[in-house]
Amino acid sequence: MNCFYHPTTPAVGLCKHCQRGLCSECAAVVDDVLACKNRHEEGVHKLEILTARNLLQSERVRSVYMKNFSFYGLVGVAFVGFGWWQLDFLGLQAALFMALGVFLLYAALTNYLEAKKYK
Ligand SMILES: [Zn+2]
Ligand SMILES: [Zn+2]
Repeated sequence: MNCFYHPTTPAVGLCKHCQRGLCSECAAVVDDVLACKNRHEEGVHKLEILTARNLLQSERVRSVYMKNFSFYGLVGVAFVGFGWWQLDFLGLQAALFMALGVFLLYAALTNYLEAKKYK
């Protein structure tokens, strides 16, 4: 492949903005990626900032889901354990506790699966 701006010069890489071939003379390095010099430097820079921001955003969302997961998980286990332990004394009431615990564990699981999507 040759440079888009110099058809006789071999390209050293692609502009991240327009995907055109660039020779060493036309290529500008912006945030570790290549861009057309004096043409798409700004565009590539914005693109990189946007990507970085998206990564940060998904990391934040992930940590919220993980927090929910550990909270629901802990409370769920406590409820199920308490219900199991009190089953002989409380009967139906203990069974309700266990049902609630199972529901919370289910909520914990769905949060965990959501968090995994943001890896
Ligand atoms: Zn370009
Ligand atoms: Zn060139």
